[in-house]
Amino acid sequence: MAPTPERFAKIMRVLQKRQPTLTVLMDEVNKPHNLSAIVRTCDAVGVLEAHAVPPKGGKLAEFEGHTYDATSGSAHKWVKVTKHADAISAVRKLQGRGFQVLATHLSQRSVDYREADYTRPTCVLLGAEKWGVSDEAADAADMNIIIPMFGMVQSLNVSVAAATILFEAQRQRLAAGMYGTPQLAPHELAALAFEWGYP
Ligand code: SAM
Repeated sequence: MAPTPERFAKIMRVLQKRQPTLTVLMDEVNKPHNLSAIVRTCDAVGVLEAHAVPPKGGKLAEFEGHTYDATSGSAHKWVKVTKHADAISAVRKLQGRGFQVLATHLSQRSVDYREADYTRPTCVLLGAEKWGVSDEAADAADMNIIIPMFGMVQSLNVSVAAATILFEAQRQRLAAGMYGTPQLAPHELAALAFEWGYP
């Protein structure tokens, strides 16, 4: 069924603000409500495609379909999540595509997340609830970032950390005018408009 003119206008408005050069890599984030909340934030800031390494022990195929709960608010329909076998190869692949990878790492060498330049093609690497980002993945990243914490608890929930960082990226990109002109090539925008309009 053809979308109504209002629906199609909304699809175009959203696609014109999509940021193909901003993404996240979720490394074994294993709770569906966290994954759903992160994908929902991705949709809100305009992430076109997110990346995930499914939790160990699970099969890649099983990851699909069991992953999202109501927390996503259907955002997973509008943000493609590409799966990877492991964090290091995913980091290398994204760097090969020109992304700087910023690992959220709770260590001394990490810099305040606001110091990063999110107008560059950027992937934010997020860690598992129990273990965080591995030292190997943090070493493979271009920079390690941290949200300063002054409380008794050492870390934030991963979806809260993702939102904090992605909205800083949105702030910087808004200031740089990156939401003012489409970041998608015209043919990509047209293809996605068709895909979204005629699911
Ligand atoms: N024990 C884990 C560790 O040492 O990394 C804690 C993991 S934390 C619950 C889950 C994820 O949330 C982290 O891997 C990171 O991606 C993100 N996160 C939590 N607090 C953060 C902070 N203060 N700065 C940056 N990222 C944070």
